[in-house]
Amino acid sequence: MTEKTAQQQAAPVPSDHIMGVYQRAPLAFERGEGARLYATDGEAYLDCMAGIAVNALGHANPKLVQALTDQAHKLWHTSNIFTIPGQETLATMLTEATFADVVFFGNSGAEAIECAIKTARKHHWANGNPERIDIIGFEGSFHGRTLAAVNASGNASYLEGFGPKMPGFLQLPFDDLDAIKAAVGETTAAIILEPVQGEGGARAWTDATLRAIRQLCDETGTLLIYDEIQCGLGRTGRLFAYEWLEGAADPDIMAVAKALGGGFPVGACLATARAANGMTPGSHGSTYGGNPLAMAVGIAAVEELVKPELLAHVREVAGYFNQQFAGLQDRFPDVIVDIRGKGLLIGVKLATSNREFMQHARDEHLLIAGGGENCVRLLPPLNLTFDEAREAIGKFERACETARSKAKAAA
Ligand SMILES: *Cc1c(COP(=O)(O)O)cnc(C)c1O
Repeated sequence: MTEKTAQQQAAPVPSDHIMGVYQRAPLAFERGEGARLYATDGEAYLDCMAGIAVNALGHANPKLVQALTDQAHKLWHTSNIFTIPGQETLATMLTEATFADVVFFGNSGAEAIECAIKTARKHHWANGNPERIDIIGFEGSFHGRTLAAVNASGNASYLEGFGPKMPGFLQLPFDDLDAIKAAVGETTAAIILEPVQGEGGARAWTDATLRAIRQLCDETGTLLIYDEIQCGLGRTGRLFAYEWLEGAADPDIMAVAKALGGGFPVGACLATARAANGMTPGSHGSTYGGNPLAMAVGIAAVEELVKPELLAHVREVAGYFNQQFAGLQDRFPDVIVDIRGKGLLIGVKLATSNREFMQHARDEHLLIAGGGENCVRLLPPLNLTFDEAREAIGKFERACETARSKAKAAA
């Protein structure tokens, strides 16, 4: 091993020994605080992607750091064959705050989805309908990268090369109620959707369609699964995005992760007792799921995320962003095609390459995420200050100017 030089630290080179599944930016960070990230070369960046909606309470949040370190000195892991007090606490918090009666803890979003799908199928099996296995998903959805999750989303580029598409999964166009009504039948187990799509380009389902889907599910015994891994836990300005419908379209099962650990890996599958009736001892499990470290951080995170002041703040900052992005769209119609999303899950559909735009933003020391349909997404920490929001808009505007001048030069 050669010693690391200062120069290597300044410009990290992607390793040959990491499986090449990501197209990585040559940028590494060594420290973060709130919405600020500090790169290995000491440069500061304004983080408006928050680890893709994970660091919802900012980097190195003192309450989360405290919860994690306190727990680290006591106990890291036992086993799910024992009672884990933190699970009882966090499950109580989550069920009291939602439609759900029971929770299964895993380590990631994909695992929460896996549990949701298994719970749905097992429900029908337990009720004497083993033929009801079909999971209806939607174009533009993203549910994670396990085989079941990529089959549920149906995105061809995520399925290619991994063998035949699994039976029992079908996809329909986004927000098309007629297509859903036509597809639900005797073998349908569940409908799975993100109330606000994340990776797919920050598209929000219309309230009317969600209400109609709920009604259709009630009429046909179909279970409704929400994937609120990205749009949940305060991101849209309510604790969960489905709450905007005021009880008219609650799910039966819901997958949660990302912000739940604020950066510590944890996921959860929430369900009503009725939907989870097939999940009996032995039907599912996880070695690490719900371990004491994850639960300590999850409890501390949820204590913050449920606070009405925080949710009100999200709505206010989101309102500011909405107004500012509308202004930017007016001034840069050649760059910005559409503004979408909900709350602080903001999608900006671009006329120019979103990959290049992310680089222009990085040049301004603003970090934003990509997304489907040539979008970039802003997913800042929920406690982003108004000063930081103004700074983000200033940087975004300069990135628009760069994109415009590049487009002009190319023309
Ligand atoms: C990130 C994400 C997932 C997958 O979560 P992982 O923790 O990466 O497995 C699933 N669904 C949605 C909506 C997501 O945003």
